Amino acid sequence: MTDAVTYRSDVTVRLDDWMGDDAKVIRMAKASIKRTGGDMDSAAREGFINFLARERHGVPFEHAYGTFYIEAPLRVLRQMAKHRHTSISEWSGRYSVLEPVFFLADRDRHLVQAGKPGAYRFQPGSADQWLTYVWQTTAASEYAWRSYQAMLNAGIARELARDVLGVGIYTSAYVTLNARAMMHFLSLRTSGRDYATLTSHPQAEIELVADGIEAHLAAKLPAVHAAFEKYGRVAP
Ligand SMILES: Cc1cc2nc3c(=O)[nH]c(=O)nc-3n(C[C@H](O)[C@H](O)[C@H](O)COP(=O)(O)OP(=O)(O)OC[C@H]3O[C@@H](n4cnc5c(N)ncnc54)[C@H](O)[C@@H]3O)c2cc1C
Repeated sequence: MTDAVTYRSDVTVRLDDWMGDDAKVIRMAKASIKRTGGDMDSAAREGFINFLARERHGVPFEHAYGTFYIEAPLRVLRQMAKHRHTSISEWSGRYSVLEPVFFLADRDRHLVQAGKPGAYRFQPGSADQWLTYVWQTTAASEYAWRSYQAMLNAGIARELARDVLGVGIYTSAYVTLNARAMMHFLSLRTSGRDYATLTSHPQAEIELVADGIEAHLAAKLPAVHAAFEKYGRVAP
């Protein structure tokens, strides 16, 4: 077991597996009239997907899905697990010894919260606040890791020893969700688009995960992603 605590401020979102394309979404929708849409040109396909998104015919989008390998702080995986249409298989701190990798924000991450619940704004923070953040976070992470090791060395079960590690420690998981659930996730976990119907205020690190997932959605289902953008980034 290593002693050296390391820090990350990024997340990993790697595409593990994908099923379905724009044509499949159309084929599932055309099932109702025993057609496939295979004879449609690209303009007709885009128009039909726009129709499905605009009229909120959501089920055809559920037939495409992706599996992502994600590395992120525990608190971010915790937020992902709130989305009930995700299937998550996570690294177990009960069955294996965790690794000493903790979250430490970069200097450009906003540090200070202002406003009220539901309408928080985040601001950069002063040099003193930055030093306090770095000192306290690194001191606590290193102390927590030493406590964890001391307990394991004393024969305490991993499932109990991990309690001291906090939510900044990195974990990993495979996360599977269908394209409809993906769009719902993106509507809640991305921000900064003034054309979006919903203004959400996600935490910065889950937004990094959402950005990674959105890039794969746009690459794999370009017409679906374009319709998501066109109709206000709301899941059909
Ligand atoms: C900015 C932000 C702040 C948040 N803060 C908090 C917080 O302080 N505390 C907290 O606990 N959570 C918080 N959450 C999580 C939030 O409450 C939701 O749990 C999470 O966003 C998942 O949303 P969802 O239920 O719409 O999505 P999913 O669970 O993915 O469900 C998708 C959709 O399926 C339908 N659905 C799913 N399950 C049911 C059901 N049982 N009954 C009826 N319809 C269902 C709904 O239409 C739902 O919108 C926050 C989320 C965001 C984006």
